[in-house]
Amino acid sequence: MTTDTATQSSERVEALQSADTRTLIHPHTVIGSPDRPLVLARGEGVTVWDAEGRSYLDGTCGLWQCAVGHGRPELAQVAADQIRELEFYSSFGDYSNEPAIRLGERLLELAPSGIERVFFTNGGSEGTETAIKLARLAFHHAGVTGRTIILSRQGAYHGMGGGSLGVTGIDRLRDGYDPLLPGVEFLSRPHALEYGADATDVLVAELERRIKEIGAERIAAFIGEPVLGVGGMVPPPEGYWPRVQETLRRHGILLIVDEIVTAFGRTGHWFASERYGIEPDMIVTAKGLTSGYIPMGAVLIGRRPLELLDGALFAHGFTYNGHPVGAAVARANLEIIERERLLDGARHMGERLLEALAPLGSLAHVREVRGVGLMIGIELTEDAGSVQAAAREDGVIVRAAGSTILLSPPLVISEAQVDQLASVVAKHVSDIGERATS
Ligand code: PLP
Repeated sequence: MTTDTATQSSERVEALQSADTRTLIHPHTVIGSPDRPLVLARGEGVTVWDAEGRSYLDGTCGLWQCAVGHGRPELAQVAADQIRELEFYSSFGDYSNEPAIRLGERLLELAPSGIERVFFTNGGSEGTETAIKLARLAFHHAGVTGRTIILSRQGAYHGMGGGSLGVTGIDRLRDGYDPLLPGVEFLSRPHALEYGADATDVLVAELERRIKEIGAERIAAFIGEPVLGVGGMVPPPEGYWPRVQETLRRHGILLIVDEIVTAFGRTGHWFASERYGIEPDMIVTAKGLTSGYIPMGAVLIGRRPLELLDGALFAHGFTYNGHPVGAAVARANLEIIERERLLDGARHMGERLLEALAPLGSLAHVREVRGVGLMIGIELTEDAGSVQAAAREDGVIVRAAGSTILLSPPLVISEAQVDQLASVVAKHVSDIGERATS
């Protein structure tokens, strides 16, 4: 760990930490038993510094959001300029603003074919809620009564709101919040490791069977992440998406693709839908849209739902939808991704990282090393929390989700940083095996 010059005294940092534990409840922590927080103070590129000046290589990008890396003065300038010009005005009804209009145009240029409209949100969960409501409203408005069920999958993560948690298939996140959104049916976790070479056949046969059992005339939409994210960085089984899509189309079911993590370069494409041959009816995005500099998301809506929705009043919206500062920053962020060829970067660095970590797959306590672009998962046979803690001691931030270590650095990561990330992770994953045998 290197030390930054702009450090604060350890007494001041301790005071901040104790104020934090007295004052705040952090997401995903035990109420009444707060951990001593790591107070972050600064970021630049792939590095963040804590308040005492220790540096950390950011192997997670925070929560996947930071495509262009931390601390870009260009984005600070765009935000400041827009705040001076028009900080915010609502987008409800007929109010609009130029940054939102320009961003909408740019998103339609980048989106897969068939996408024709954009609805802005403040983040991912709101996007999921929006897409579910649009799917249900589409059939309701078209007079197709009874098509309300949403199909999702075990292992899926679509957000933490009432509806978005309702379609999230991770039990530990759902416990204690019943009753959740009614009308959701779950299919199996789409992980080739569980089924071997026949995975796609097995999963598509299950989809057909469940549609028959439930009745296609009762199903509005299927929602899925192209690559499971929180659920373990699991790329789809070979040929999975085109066959799922064909099945859904045949039964008149809309396909909502959750690209909140994957959109804007993480898999080496603007949208993972392109990579996997998906023509979505709706795409939910957030995170990489602004690289997290301002909270903002967008739901991209395709021709088929739009035809059903034509003439429907969409009684839905959140105060900050279409935020001009978010939109201005998003557009500048997309420009950086394009100008600096970060899609190529994600592909190249992702391959290098996966190659460097692949040998871990032969260790007895490693179930699988997998990934696509800069989304890599190392699944252990035990909880991965110790690797997260040990790597941080070594100045590298990684994320443990259950038994899987999730790696998703900013797309601007260099070869040297990829090698550092791989070597620290490899060391601590290998250490688990050595502890077990000693
Ligand atoms: N969908 C996916 C695939 C996600 O990874 C996330 C967040 O990590 C969400 C939805 C929810 O997004 P947000 O936390 O912005 O509400």
